[in-house]
Amino acid sequence: MPSPGASPGSVRLLRQIRDVMAREGDAQERLDALVRLIAANMVAEVCSIYLRRAGGSMELCATEGLKREAVHNLRMAEGEGLVGVVARTAEPVALSDAPMHPNFSYHPETGEDPYHSFLGVPILRGGRLLGVLVVQNMTERAYEDEEVETLQTIAMVLAEVIGTSELAEESELAGIEIRPSRPDHLYGRGFAEGLAIGEAYVLEPHVAPTRLIAEDPAAEEERLTAALGELRATLDQLAEGEGRPEGGVTREVLETYRMFARDPKWVARLQDAVRAGLTAEAAVERARNEQRARMATAREVYLRDRLHDLEDLANRLLRHLAGDAMEPPPENAVLIARQIGPAELLELGPQGLAGVALEEGSASAHATIVARALGIPMVGRLEGVLDRAETGDTVILDGRSGEAHLRPGDEVVDAFRQRIELRSQRQRAYARLRGRRAKTKDGRELQLMLNAGLLVDLPQIEATGADGIGLFRTEFQFMIADRLPKQEDQVELYTQVMQAAGDKPVIFRTLDLGGDKILPYLTAERERNPAMGWRAIRMSLDRQGLFRYQLRALMTAAAGRELNVMFPLVATPDEFRAARDLAVKELEWARGRGRPVPERMKVGVMVETPALACGLDAILGDADFVSVGANDLFQFFYAVDRENARLSDRYDILDRGFVRLLRDIARSCAQRGVPASVCGEMAGRPLEAAALAALGFPRLSMPPGGIGPVKQSLLQLDAGDLQNVIEEFLTDSDASHLRNVLQDFATERDLPH
Ligand code: PEP
Ligand code: MG
Repeated sequence: MPSPGASPGSVRLLRQIRDVMAREGDAQERLDALVRLIAANMVAEVCSIYLRRAGGSMELCATEGLKREAVHNLRMAEGEGLVGVVARTAEPVALSDAPMHPNFSYHPETGEDPYHSFLGVPILRGGRLLGVLVVQNMTERAYEDEEVETLQTIAMVLAEVIGTSELAEESELAGIEIRPSRPDHLYGRGFAEGLAIGEAYVLEPHVAPTRLIAEDPAAEEERLTAALGELRATLDQLAEGEGRPEGGVTREVLETYRMFARDPKWVARLQDAVRAGLTAEAAVERARNEQRARMATAREVYLRDRLHDLEDLANRLLRHLAGDAMEPPPENAVLIARQIGPAELLELGPQGLAGVALEEGSASAHATIVARALGIPMVGRLEGVLDRAETGDTVILDGRSGEAHLRPGDEVVDAFRQRIELRSQRQRAYARLRGRRAKTKDGRELQLMLNAGLLVDLPQIEATGADGIGLFRTEFQFMIADRLPKQEDQVELYTQVMQAAGDKPVIFRTLDLGGDKILPYLTAERERNPAMGWRAIRMSLDRQGLFRYQLRALMTAAAGRELNVMFPLVATPDEFRAARDLAVKELEWARGRGRPVPERMKVGVMVETPALACGLDAILGDADFVSVGANDLFQFFYAVDRENARLSDRYDILDRGFVRLLRDIARSCAQRGVPASVCGEMAGRPLEAAALAALGFPRLSMPPGGIGPVKQSLLQLDAGDLQNVIEEFLTDSDASHLRNVLQDFATERDLPH
């Protein structure tokens, strides 16, 4: 069947609309001219534009056919009438006999009695609803699909021309929010500490199409087809394992994208928009706007996820249409995205990012860990930030409180700059503590160590004065590489790590792969519960080749010095022994061949499963040291997915049950003389760290930003005192959270928290 091609009529109309809006003069006159133009072209007796006021009501701002007096006097409450239905659902409503509809709301002052048929479409820009465009006819007529399509296309152009005009400045139209221009304050969760002020850079390309209307519709259709072809090819490549998935996108999501990219309905929507006279970009933007607006109202999680996927797909298609990669962020940019993957952040971070603001994200996701390593403040779970921020806006982020200010006023900026200054004074104070031992007032000395995993982390040993690296996450090297790192690459990295540490100890954690850390170059079966699946030590014991290669690399790099190695996610004593036996065998093998070997090897275990935590006694005789991976232990203790943003506030790590578990671990280890540390994120927070010191952990391993505040807290702490408070809480109190008790304790004694 031949392609229907663009209708010359609709292209002409779109151009006329653009020309009307480009005219100089009164904004109201321009809107009036528009409704006349649209009514005439759509052969409708009525055409009205309703625009949304800041409170959510819809104001009749221009009409052809209804009474003039109603303009600016008719305001429909949020959700009221058929206009409200269009606004709420972000979908067109076409009715042949509107007054019969249960949502019809009668306003005699408009003089709309004679009109029966009604067609309303949303006016959307960047996923925001600006208003509703309505046409009405006297006869009870059914609007054709093509007419609905045309009116939607007109609404898209209208949205862009209204959105970029000075409409909102006019007195009668003041208070109508065309584009975000006011200061906005959002509350999310602080994921990586620090204060940032910078320029918003929205990672998902918001193409405000400069060329909305196709000059040559046939050429636009060809461009769209070509870009769709490229998009499908890229997705196929990614899904088949060539190149790594970006942006934290999993293979499963890629499969969904592949399916959607071939979805005839989606493709037809884009083609229809191009045929109605839009450019390919504008067509994609229109589809994306509609998806976004629907996403904002979708309650069902599954549906929201699918709409997210579709939006991502639209973003990718826009990138293909733009021809090349996106422009790099400017200096001092605050990156705004829904989610970001560790590799992507590693790529963008060192280019001078001031901060990262995410719609989603989670406190222990790997991108968050990367942000902390790079010292980039990150705030997540900022609902609506993508819709409310525009590239170029000034943004302030507080990585601790989780607040974000968009387009802040001068007073907020000034106050914030003062806080930045205060913070740097505090940082200077922490820096002065660099050379001091972390000793509590009552004489308990703790080792404060770093969590690391990347070369960029290494200068932090020197900068923070840490006592070594308490957790080196070896899988990071694998996660950011395009292919499996060779043994010599591993030796090279481990050697650099040990050199940077000098005389200080480094504890290497063997590969913690699997789960959410699936490598594109290692095919693995998709699992329903990857965090509890075939991962970490389970994978290492089943695929011993990879594990032994790594052990060999570690031995070579640690030649002549002490090697500390520990295993992740051990659940049973047998797993630990099997892994330790392999390490010993490798050592003997290397020694037997006269290869360089460590002077001494210490083998430890991570306590990350409740099973091991409860059966710890059974392996304390065989383990040289223990490290509590509190991120995972907490996840499994509470059965709460650490990556699930919706649950990240639900349980407190200082809850009674978890604190008791930690106390028992510390106690068992102390009784058996096995050094115990905590290396989850909690160890880097002063309040939690004080509790851990009081519980008797002699070693804490944390992100670099934690060392200063934790040391300061410990220097002022009477650990014995706090120990009594905690014991009392665990035995006597009815309270379920230790946090409040600790906060009172810290406030009374002026401890940082
Ligand atoms: C943990 O689980 O606490 C831990 C330190 O390991 P990771 O965060 O890498 O899983
Ligand atoms: Mg872990």
